[in-house]
Parts: sequence; structure tokens; C-alpha cells
Amino acid sequence: MNEFELIRRYFSRQPVTRADVALGIGDDAALLQPPPGQQLVVTTDLLVSDVHFLPDVNPAALGHKALAVNLSDLAAMGAEPAWFVLNLALPVADESWLTGFSTGLFGLAQRYRIQLVGGDTSRAPQVVIAIEAHGFVPAGQALERAGAKPGDRIFITGALGDAGLALRHRQGRLRLSDAEFALCAERMDRPAPRIEEGLALRAIASSAIDISDGLVADLGHILEMSRVGARLELARLPLSPAYRTHLAETGWDVALANGDDYELCFTVPPANLAALEKIKHRFPAMVDIGVIEADSGLRIIDAAGKPYTPKATGHDHFG
Ligand code: ADP
Ligand code: MG
Repeated sequence: MNEFELIRRYFSRQPVTRADVALGIGDDAALLQPPPGQQLVVTTDLLVSDVHFLPDVNPAALGHKALAVNLSDLAAMGAEPAWFVLNLALPVADESWLTGFSTGLFGLAQRYRIQLVGGDTSRAPQVVIAIEAHGFVPAGQALERAGAKPGDRIFITGALGDAGLALRHRQGRLRLSDAEFALCAERMDRPAPRIEEGLALRAIASSAIDISDGLVADLGHILEMSRVGARLELARLPLSPAYRTHLAETGWDVALANGDDYELCFTVPPANLAALEKIKHRFPAMVDIGVIEADSGLRIIDAAGKPYTPKATGHDHFG
């Protein structure tokens, strides 16, 4: 199988159904037509073997996750997904790996109607996957990290820490039951990008971020960019039943700092809380976890009302 056959067999198979794709895969470049009045939202994420995933990871899960992390960034901006490009470096053209990877990738792409419009393919010593995703947001309506104000409530879209539990189980540092592991591994391997939440929050949230590096680190980015501080209540943190079962041995830090959960963290001004109530029936997992304050820094308060300091703060490749 040569390079062109590989592209044709595995990556040209998504039918083009979007009217805004004038020319997709197959030419020197794609021709795309953004709708009038919309801003183009562009994001990219790099996944490197041995750094972001183990070489023996399920290829379908990897295909899903490579796109999901990009969709999560679009969600955090309040963007509607439209197009993506895929840059792929592979040591070998393994047919069963390519079948699995492309099936996982296109399964998620179809769900959010995001069209693969191009990419590049090369041989390399290890697997590297770089996806760039594009979306739209009406001009001026994107959710940015800056914009949180003292008095705004802080929310997250769902439970934190399950991806971290799955990782610890795989590392032999924690023993989950089969049923618990199945749920947690799903969260680690096939994260669900919160696209619908991001779209619904455009007119409601004052700032937003997706939690890829851990709540403490990512909320920290909102605080820094918004030049504010916050008070977070541990007792309000949404945890899965599996996490609650293991809370005594695991502690809070996996939920606070592991990351990889891809929930959104966002802030809502008091004037918009009624609007948030109106959409909450669609997103029952959304929970209020604290409040933005004028004093800089993050103050975490435990159930007894005492200050809590996490030992780990988040993922940093060069930290
Ligand atoms: P070039 O020599 O101009 O880089 P290629 O032969 O690499 O062109 O690519 C031919 C077509 O296939 C282009 O439309 C390119 O966008 C597409 N393509 C190449 N690799 C991928 C990939 N991994 N996923 C999707 N499309 C790809
Ligand atoms: Mg090329």
C-alpha cells in the first residue's frame, strides 16, 4: 500500500455533505466557504506516541480522542464544528491499525458533522497525530478565557476525575471493580466533547475553558486572563459514584488536577443565572462549584470550611 492508496482507502471515505466545502480531499488544497457574519475558530492539538498515549492503545479510541480533544477546544469557544485537517506520521502502514483509527475518528466526526478536508501523511519513527479543527461563531460571541468578573458563579459541565481513576488503575496504583473501570476507561479513552453545552452557553457565560490539564490549572487560566481570583468549594465538586467509592484512598487531587476529563469550566454573571436555569434541564450534570472574587489566587475550601491545598496542580510538559 503506497501513500496515496493509504489516503484514499482510509481517509477519503467520509462523504462530503457540507455545502460549505467547495473542494475537499484530493487537490493541492481544500476550498472552503465560511458563512457570512461568522468568525472562523481555529484550534490544533498534537498527540505523540509515548508522550500522550501508549503505543498499544486501542486505535479506534485513539482516533476518537485525537478529534475529541480538538472538538473540546471548539466547545470551550462556543463554536459550531465545521472542518478539520489530519496530519499523520506513522512508522508502518498497518491495515488493522488504520481501520481502527479511521473508524474511531469518523464515528465522532459524523456525530458532529465535522468534515475532514485534507492533511498530510508521512513515515516517522513513532506515531504522531496532529489535527487542526475549524468551527464558526457569530462575530463577537465567542467564549473567551478572559471575561470573568467578581460575583460570577463558577460551573463545570460534569463529574471530574474519572479519567484519572482509569489511569491509576492502569498503572496499578488503584484497584477499581470491572464495572467502575469500564465507566472510567470510557471517560479516559473516548471523552465526549461538550459541543452542545458550549453552543448553549454563548449568550450566558462570561468566560469558559475546557478542562484538559486539570481544574486547578485550567480555572487558573481563566483567573489569570480575567485578572480575578476565586473561591472553590470541594463539597460542591461533582464526582461519579466510582470516585466517591474510592475518595478516601484517592483523595481530591485526582479530580482537581489530573485533567483528561474534557468537561467545560465556565463563569456566569448573576444577571444570567436565570437564563442558565432555563437550559439546565438539557444539561443536568452542570454544577455550581464556587464564585469569582476580586482577590487574585484560587482559594479551595473543604467540607469543614477549612482551606485546602492540592499537592498536584496540573499537567505541564515542561514543568
Ligand atoms: P501534497 O503533495 O500537495 O502534500 P498529498 O499527496 O500529500 O499532496 O495529498 C493529496 C491530498 O490528500 C490532499 O488533498 C491532502 O490534503 C490529502 N491528504 C493527505 N494526507 C491526508 C490525511 N492524513 N488525511 C486527510 N487528507 C489527507
Ligand atoms: Mg503531502
